[in-house]
Order: sequence, then structure tokens, then C-alpha cells
Amino acid sequence: MSLQTEEIYRTLLLYSADAVIVTNPAGIITTTNPSFAKLVGSPIEELIGSPLDSIVVADWQEAEESENGKEQSKQEEEEESALKTVTVLTRVGTEFVMPAAHFPVYHDTKKAELAGYLTIIYVIQANSLQQAQTEFVSTVSHELRTPLTSIKGFADTILRAGERLDSSQQRRYVGIIKDQADRLTRLVEDLLAVSRLESKKLQLTIRAIDIREAIERVQQNLSDKAKKHTVIIQVPPGLTPVWADADRLEQILTNLVDNAIKYSPADTTVTISAKGIQGTPELVEFSVADQGVGIPEEHLPQVFSKFGRLDNPLVRQTEGTGLGLYITRSLVLALGGQITVESVPGGTTFTVRLPAATPEQQAARGRG
Ligand code: ADP
Repeated sequence: MSLQTEEIYRTLLLYSADAVIVTNPAGIITTTNPSFAKLVGSPIEELIGSPLDSIVVADWQEAEESENGKEQSKQEEEEESALKTVTVLTRVGTEFVMPAAHFPVYHDTKKAELAGYLTIIYVIQANSLQQAQTEFVSTVSHELRTPLTSIKGFADTILRAGERLDSSQQRRYVGIIKDQADRLTRLVEDLLAVSRLESKKLQLTIRAIDIREAIERVQQNLSDKAKKHTVIIQVPPGLTPVWADADRLEQILTNLVDNAIKYSPADTTVTISAKGIQGTPELVEFSVADQGVGIPEEHLPQVFSKFGRLDNPLVRQTEGTGLGLYITRSLVLALGGQITVESVPGGTTFTVRLPAATPEQQAARGRG
């Protein structure tokens, strides 16, 4: 190694915000950096000579085995397989669970003689993850508390006032309790959907789906809510089916049409249309357009974020968790598609593009 390269590595180690640890083949720390010392709360001199597994608890075996099995795989995949969650035990006895990677280092390029191991603990990533989790927990607690406060308040009133309430008052209060309990249920269901999406446990059953049939089913399901609106469906005959999961597609359509109804006044029209895209036969496009309150341009990016409810008169009047469009966008991405939104004060249009089923995929559907 030339002197200059050595100096670069030394500086990198010294100023890296992530913790870097080098051990010998027996797992004894031989080199480390200030970030690791700060994380553990011990000076570097004390850390050198200690066994790494007395401070960082991890199951590296598994990572190494899966790496060995993939000798031919790309570097990117190797790095991913080496990524682990480790527990760091600090000097004062606290524990941090953090993402880390662990690589064998060899004396020569032929990888004949093991020199030791290099471990990196991703401190920055762990901090931002922790911050996002803390914010999420605080928002969820707030969202849960609002309906709970209302349920508790009205239940208390009924208990205290009891016989003194006439039957219409009693019915009204019990009605509010039920509405708020429904809201809690919706919130919990949406949160479970978010958790499934984020833990990548989403099971998809992909097949060719006739988009007109899907749109008509959603229109039917929402017909009660859409009593004061006119819903128009525009799908050209013979449109290529989409290659998607039927339930998720319905959920995407339901969320968009439900919003279109919620955020537009009575006696207006909601148009659900689908079409092919000229020059892009591999995609099919569908959109949901309303004649509602619209979304100010500066707030457009916000609507797809978690709990992204915007303040407008119809938002205040309608029930919502602010998770619908976040879930919708995640589902569209999981299906390999894209979602965009355009809005003017007289209306909003959400457009989704999904993969089109190829002729072979459509034939498979015919046989199935
Ligand atoms: P919510 O449960 O509040 O409906 P969503 O994630 O579905 O949550 O939507 C987020 C926010 O985006 C809504 O609170 C509303 O302010 C805005 N929004 C969504 N769809 C429309 C629409 N069609 N027209 C106007 N505003 C909309």
C-alpha cells in the first residue's frame, strides 16, 4: 500500500461516523476508530485487545455461510448478505440494536490465508431509523388518543347522567362512541397494512386481470358512499389486462375512488378511466378524476406520506387516517407500477400505471 493510500484509510477511519473494527482471526480487536469508542463509551486503548464478541453480539456464521455459497454473485449481493442486525453492549450496560456488516480479510488476493475480520456498524443509518420510529410512535399515539378521548368522554357522560338523558341523547352519544370505535378499527387496520408493507411480508398473487371488471366491482362496493355523486367508467373494449394482484388492485382503486368521493361536493362527477399508452405497450394506465376541492400544488408531494392529511374544509368534515395514499403508493410500487397526481382547484386526478399482461400471460389465464 502506498503511503498516500495508507493516509487516506487512516483519515477515513478517524473521521468515519460509522464504527469500524478490525479483529484478528480469533476475534480479538486489533484496530478500531473513535466512532466505535464513542458508541461503546470506552477509550480505544481499552477496546484494543478485547474480544469483539464481548461487545458486539451477532450471528456472523450465518452471514459468512450464505456469502460462501454465492462465490459467483455480484459484489452488491455479497454486501447485502453480509448485512446483519447486531446488539452493541455499552460500557454502562445499555444495549443498542444496530445494522452492521462483517467481512473476512485475507493476506493475499487468492484468499488463501485469513488475516482477520472487518466489521462496520452503521451508526448513521441506525440513528435515522431510530428517529423515524420515534416520530411514528408519537404520531400513532396521537392519532389513537383522539378517538379514545371521545369514546371515554361520552361513555363517562352516559354513566354519570344515566337516567337524566332522554333516549334521543343516549342514542346520539352511543352513535358517537360507535363512530369513534369504527375510526379506531380503521386506523389499526391501516397500521397493520403499513406494517405488512414495510416488513416486506406482502404476499402477492400475480395474474392477468381485466381492469373493467375490477373497476366495476369497486364501483359496486362503494355505491352506498357514492349516492350523491355520479360515477362514470370509461374503458375501451379489448383493453389489455393488467399483470397484478387482484386484491391489491382493488384496494388501490377503492382508496382512490373513496378519496375522490370524500373530497368532492355532492352532485359532482367522479370519472374512472383506463387506457393503453401509445408507444408503451408494456404498461396500462388508469385514472380517477374528481371535481372536488383540489390539492394546492405545494402540498402535492405530502399526500403520499404517512399521516399526510391536508387542512381543508372537506378534510375536517370527513373521516380519514392519512394513511390511505401512503398504502396506495406502496402497493402500486410493490406491483411494479407508478402513481402520479395532478390537481387544480376544480378537481384532482390520480393516475396509476401498471404492467400489462403479455399475450403468454393472458393465455395462461385463459387456461387457468
Ligand atoms: P385520508 O385518510 O385523510 O383520506 P389519504 O392518505 O387517503 O388519507 O389522503 C391524504 C390527504 O390527501 C387527505 O387527507 C386529503 O387532504 C388529500 N386528498 C387525497 N385525495 C384527494 C382528492 N381526491 N382531492 C383532494 N384532496 C385529496
